[in-house]
Amino acid sequence: MIVAGGHAAFNPEPIADFIDAAVLGDGEEAVLEITAIVREWKAEGCPGGRDELLLRLARTESVYVPRFYDVDYLPDGRIQRVVPNRADVPFRVHKRTTMDLDAWPYPKKPLVPLAETVHERYAVEIFRGCTRGCRFCQAGMITRPVRERSITTVGQMVREGLEFSGFSEVGLLSLSSADHSEIGDMCSGLAQQYEGTNVSLSLPSTRVDAFNIDLAQELSRNGRRTGLTFAPEGGSERIRKVINKMVSKEDLIRTVVTAYSNGWRQVKLYFMCGLPTETDEDVLEIADMAHEVIKAGRAATGSKDIRCTVSIGGFVPKPHTPFQWAPMERPEVIDHRLKILKQAINSDRSLGRAIGYRYHDGEPSLIEGLLSRGDRRVGSVIRKVWENGGRFDGWSEHFSYQRWVDAAAETLPAFGVDLDWYTTRQRDELEVLPWDHLDSGLDKDWLWQDWQDSLSEFEQDDCRWTPCFDCGVCPSMDTEIQIGPTGRKLLPLTPLGGNGMKVPTAGHPA
Ligand code: SF4
Repeated sequence: MIVAGGHAAFNPEPIADFIDAAVLGDGEEAVLEITAIVREWKAEGCPGGRDELLLRLARTESVYVPRFYDVDYLPDGRIQRVVPNRADVPFRVHKRTTMDLDAWPYPKKPLVPLAETVHERYAVEIFRGCTRGCRFCQAGMITRPVRERSITTVGQMVREGLEFSGFSEVGLLSLSSADHSEIGDMCSGLAQQYEGTNVSLSLPSTRVDAFNIDLAQELSRNGRRTGLTFAPEGGSERIRKVINKMVSKEDLIRTVVTAYSNGWRQVKLYFMCGLPTETDEDVLEIADMAHEVIKAGRAATGSKDIRCTVSIGGFVPKPHTPFQWAPMERPEVIDHRLKILKQAINSDRSLGRAIGYRYHDGEPSLIEGLLSRGDRRVGSVIRKVWENGGRFDGWSEHFSYQRWVDAAAETLPAFGVDLDWYTTRQRDELEVLPWDHLDSGLDKDWLWQDWQDSLSEFEQDDCRWTPCFDCGVCPSMDTEIQIGPTGRKLLPLTPLGGNGMKVPTAGHPA
């Protein structure tokens, strides 16, 4: 049995030929239910074989079994409808939502790799979901509503995780960690607890404000100051309105200067290229921003020893987001913008020397776009790429753009579509999308309205602090936003680093 899960399972159509089932949403409880059904079916002597087992799973309404659905197409290649081909299979499959994260403090004893890995740290998820509404962000859309883990459970997970893994670094992760209602107490409590030990704590810094610097300062009490990362995502104020990332240039410069003034020497800024409605000018503003960051940082610190890295990723429209209808930009346009941005950054040698520049070419993004919004017909492209030697294409040294283009040209014309049809084409409101029968809780009308708001550069607030704007998730999934502050405390409160005492991080349990 091959069962897909995780965020990509919200459109498993391109891999429908290769899997038995896909589970949408949170896995904690779903895994137990699925294994219980499998166990029962085995105990009965496996009646009806794999087909019967899949039917039992499909009847739960939260396991999607592609073979039980037929897809009909219109003469122009668009989907006409997706319908079950079995009587008792639901028309729509719903995502799972685990509401009480405190009841699921996992992983408890993580596997510790014997080889060195890129991120050698123990990850504690401090909350799930995000309602900030960045329009490109599939994770934020499909994991709604926000559900916080209590500060007490986070403290316990950090302590036990360190003990059972042997790691000496802990990352407090989520989609926007600084938004936890008790993040201040959490960071200062943990910092106090592990002060003087060899444990370092980190927070993925994405929010652009001074509060984030305060948190980073707390967490670096042990003296380790790694770089800070901020994600303005778009170069110009205009494009940031389009994507609903409400950060002003002034805020960004103020925040970065605060970081430099507090001893950080390295700041990373993350952006995307190829966003809907983007122009060359929007991208060139990234260079201005980076120049101003360095100038302001030098003025504030009186030192030339500061650096900023500009990192650019290619935008890929994702299912279940307002950009699911958006056309992608062509790779040659992306590559042109990346090139003129590099020239603009280096147009002032003195400033350009302090700015690092990292980017991905446009071609891999186009293929990601094919896989992101593809339907079942894309399975034939994947198979052809594999037959032609494609392996580990997520690694740039193995990726061959030409192999994908050739495979698409060989297989898709038989269906009356092509690579551009899947990627650079704008969809209209009434088009049936390949994932419409997979229910993330988001109302399709609301998503369309948010796409229209994006085009008119209208910003949407965060429903954590403003009234509900009816995205549809809470009523349709029978869930609600769960945030504190709860007033609960971190336990134990005794600092572990006093009197030379170390937390138990030495030695692998293996
Ligand atoms: S339904 Fe309302 S409260 Fe719930 S996530 Fe959507 S906008 Fe927020």
